[in-house]
Amino acid sequence: MSARSGRPTPPVELARERGAVRAHLCGGRVELDDAFVQRLEDVCAVARGADDIAETSRDWWPIGIAWALQGEVAALAGAVARPEDAAQVAEVVARCNEARVPVTMAAGRSGVCGGSVPVHGGVVIDLTGLSGIVDVDDTSLVLDVRAGTFGTWLEETLQSDHGVTTGHWPQSMDLSTVGGWLACRSAGQLSTRYGKIEDMVVGLDVVLADGRVVHTGGAPRAAVGPDLNQLFVGSEGTLGVITGARLRVHPAPAYFRDAAYGFASFADGIDACRRILRRGARPAVLRLYDTIEGERNYQTGERHVLLVHDEADETIVDATMAVVDQECATAEPLDDALVRAWFEHRNDVSALERNIRRGLVVDTMEIAATWRDCPSVYERTTAAISAVDGTLVASAHLSHSYSDGACIYFTFAGVPPEGDHDAYYRAAWDAGTHAALAAGAALSHHHGVGLNRSRYVRGALGDAYDVLVATKLALDPHGILNPGKLGLPDPFGETGW
Ligand SMILES: Cc1cc2nc3c(=O)[nH]c(=O)nc-3n(C[C@H](O)[C@H](O)[C@H](O)COP(=O)(O)OP(=O)(O)OC[C@H]3O[C@@H](n4cnc5c(N)ncnc54)[C@H](O)[C@@H]3O)c2cc1C
Repeated sequence: MSARSGRPTPPVELARERGAVRAHLCGGRVELDDAFVQRLEDVCAVARGADDIAETSRDWWPIGIAWALQGEVAALAGAVARPEDAAQVAEVVARCNEARVPVTMAAGRSGVCGGSVPVHGGVVIDLTGLSGIVDVDDTSLVLDVRAGTFGTWLEETLQSDHGVTTGHWPQSMDLSTVGGWLACRSAGQLSTRYGKIEDMVVGLDVVLADGRVVHTGGAPRAAVGPDLNQLFVGSEGTLGVITGARLRVHPAPAYFRDAAYGFASFADGIDACRRILRRGARPAVLRLYDTIEGERNYQTGERHVLLVHDEADETIVDATMAVVDQECATAEPLDDALVRAWFEHRNDVSALERNIRRGLVVDTMEIAATWRDCPSVYERTTAAISAVDGTLVASAHLSHSYSDGACIYFTFAGVPPEGDHDAYYRAAWDAGTHAALAAGAALSHHHGVGLNRSRYVRGALGDAYDVLVATKLALDPHGILNPGKLGLPDPFGETGW
């Protein structure tokens, strides 16, 4: 087992020329006294230095990148605990619970919604010390892995030492961990074949708010009440701390094929994807770009561009690509080198920092919708964001497909009127989110809720929101686990966002 499989990558260097890093948000704050910190130090390493606190208190939330350029992070933790095993995590959490101290989980810190930001100070638990592969069961194709393991190291080791793959390739592969994927319901770029992380999970090890350790799942399928794995998948550190997981893996693929097509309208492209899935084909990648994104990425002019890639057993790939070709028969065939170009540049996000340094506010917003609603969700959401004063561009691509619908991934950029970044950012999110929800979409497909989307959760869940709140109160009655997130009641007061 490796001691460490990687470290968090900061999105941008924190500006420090004006002195110490400051907190941007002014929410309720819990200070830690020395005696309490000593109790944590009895369990594991604890950092309190200004640099450690500032770095561990931020993630890749894009508005936070603009704040970092001003020497600010969203909020500052009081201490960073660095456990190395599940028992230490359990002891730290138990001590925070006894003292009613807020505790926020942080791993790769690649979240884009402020999920790992310690809005009320307190303790951040850095989970990246829990790293490495515990076991690969090649007969059953099940991986046992510790939660703080980073993606790139995991895939390289699985493929080179075991000949298997998770098939989970988020764009943030280098930046993120297994526990973060599970906590946020992550989707890899090849998810149409391999599934999202919730489809891969077989079992979990979880530390509860009072420090108890529980193990969920374990069998291929079971009819023993509700699926408790799925209670914790997507809970974003608010219901428990995931310390380990069993995930389904696949033989590493030996064969692949690519194809690319141009469509006259985004709706035509959406319908081709729908028909491909309806016929049972599951090409690993089906990415449909609107004209703005096609031109920006591939200089394809007025076309809406569909990139297709599949990988698996040769017989399955050939059959899948035959279905794709039949369903795209009326589209314009494009050079499949476009797919290779996408593979080479797919994880390059350098434009984000460049644009924020130029004074733009930029972000992405991913939602899920049924096929019937996809065309209107696309039209109404891009129109609503475009109508916000200051918006320069709102565009989208369809990134993940299912038999019943797809994920639409919006990107927007604007110049904040009167230089008020936060006001423009919130206005663009409000407009886009309300339009998407009104058109029938789900609030998020794979980035999760975090802090940024907390204000929409009650409306998005409707009367089922009460079930989420009751679950939270049952598992974490003092509300210490990641308060201020997922739209849940927050005993520590306002978050300031
Ligand atoms: C450039 C870029 C590209 C991205 N591309 C994708 C993509 O293709 N697909 C995708 O799904 N996401 C993507 N993301 C978003 C992000 O990478 C994912 O949300 C990822 O799952 C977060 O993992 P992390 O280890 O960085 O978690 P963090 O950012 O450290 O934490 C995220 C949330 O999970 C909680 N958490 C973390 N670990 C645990 C744990 N072990 N137990 C309980 N709670 C925990 C935290 O408290 C926080 O609420 C991208 C982000 C960036 C910056």
